[in-house]
Amino acid sequence: MSQKAPKKELSPIDIYKLLPKTNCKECNQENCMAFATKLVAREVNVDHCKPLQKAEYAKAFNTLHDLLKPPVKEVIIGVGDKACHVGGKLVMYRHEFTYFNPTAIAIDVTDEMTDTEIVSRIKSTEGFTYEYIGNTLKLDMIAVRSTSGDADKFKNCVKKVSETTNLPLILCALNASVIEAGVMVIPKSRSLLYAATLTNWKDMAELALMYNCPLVASAPNDLNGLATLAKTLKAYGVQDLVLDPGTFFNDGLVDTLNNFTMLRRAAIKVGDELSGFPLLGLPLSIWTNKGDLADDLVKWREAYVAGMLITRFTDIIILHSTEGWVQLPNVILRQNIYTDPRKPVAVAAGFKAFGTPNENSPVFFTSNFALTYYTVAADLESSKTSAYLIIVDAEGSAIDSGVAGRKLTAEKVSDAIKATGIENKVKHRKIIIPGKASRISGEIEELSNWKVLVGPRDSSEIAKYLIDKWQP
Ligand code: SF4
Repeated sequence: MSQKAPKKELSPIDIYKLLPKTNCKECNQENCMAFATKLVAREVNVDHCKPLQKAEYAKAFNTLHDLLKPPVKEVIIGVGDKACHVGGKLVMYRHEFTYFNPTAIAIDVTDEMTDTEIVSRIKSTEGFTYEYIGNTLKLDMIAVRSTSGDADKFKNCVKKVSETTNLPLILCALNASVIEAGVMVIPKSRSLLYAATLTNWKDMAELALMYNCPLVASAPNDLNGLATLAKTLKAYGVQDLVLDPGTFFNDGLVDTLNNFTMLRRAAIKVGDELSGFPLLGLPLSIWTNKGDLADDLVKWREAYVAGMLITRFTDIIILHSTEGWVQLPNVILRQNIYTDPRKPVAVAAGFKAFGTPNENSPVFFTSNFALTYYTVAADLESSKTSAYLIIVDAEGSAIDSGVAGRKLTAEKVSDAIKATGIENKVKHRKIIIPGKASRISGEIEELSNWKVLVGPRDSSEIAKYLIDKWQP
């Protein structure tokens, strides 16, 4: 990897200098400085400034595009709605800004599996969904591997896979004629080709260029070799690269995590262009060296290495295990890492009915912090109680921090009671508030004229609380 000076952080002034500075508002911003500030925060696109597209600003336009280019290139795999965007990272650590393009998770099939097995693995991949804080978590891609080394078998396998799914594909073989047999079946699919190595790079580069496919450059545990390979492939004309620095287990795990970290650090902190591509990890490689390990232990290791790679900057991982207990921790981990730390995870304020509530049903309130809301909602659902839940806009704060930080106030609760029209739905005037909001109970009572009942601190105790205490 080449050594350069650390990359300077972009400021709104750097951007402003290149804008037309006419304050014409065509971009729907108050002025050019406001637009520059939003550009730095990636909240608008440079193309929204139409005057900048005039010939006289061509140089400034190109400079801006260059300045705003993420240090890790975004690569698109697949076509249409299901296309996967990987990379496009701006920062090393999530708390510095935000991570774009969550790690794509692929499940493998091989050309030595039966059609039934292939279809079953694809259906299980497509069918994996999990509702988490208002988001549907899913798997993203299928990796088609040539384990036979036979071009015809690979071609038939790719055909079967492409007839079964429209998820983006990764075509995996180190022999270019095997890859070619597969990619010819789906020539316009923009599948990711795995992989160009120091020995086969030219044939793989030809295929990538001919079929307009992104290409993986692979040099396991050899970062200098990987840089040479990336440089050669770029010079040959392949611009959409993905880097595979190798995934090793046991004694090799430290090297694996170091390599991923060094590549991402070189791309973001140093601006090394040859490291500035999405990274691919292969937790499934444990299956080729499993020895006499029991399958469940292999799956467990595959799962935790996948988790380590997700936290260590990996943009695509390929897994073999399809079990929910392998996938679930990692899709949740991925979701937690890829939420925008600048924005609280919030749901819309309003109100919701659970079960079939009537005029005597209890009324609760909670905050609009997504984790709090979904926990309370799940507890109300599982309690089989019919109830109303008012969701108060606490700017995405949890109950205790919202009360402490004045984001959840008695005024807001009282206003929410009025705004939701709950007064027309129940004949009592009692609201059960979270135990953690007890210190504003008096104020709520004063402002709303509703009797306040302090409920449990933990919503899992709602069912018991209602049995013991609720009287309309
Ligand atoms: S459209 Fe361009 S020139 Fe006009 S205010 Fe926005 S940034 Fe400035």
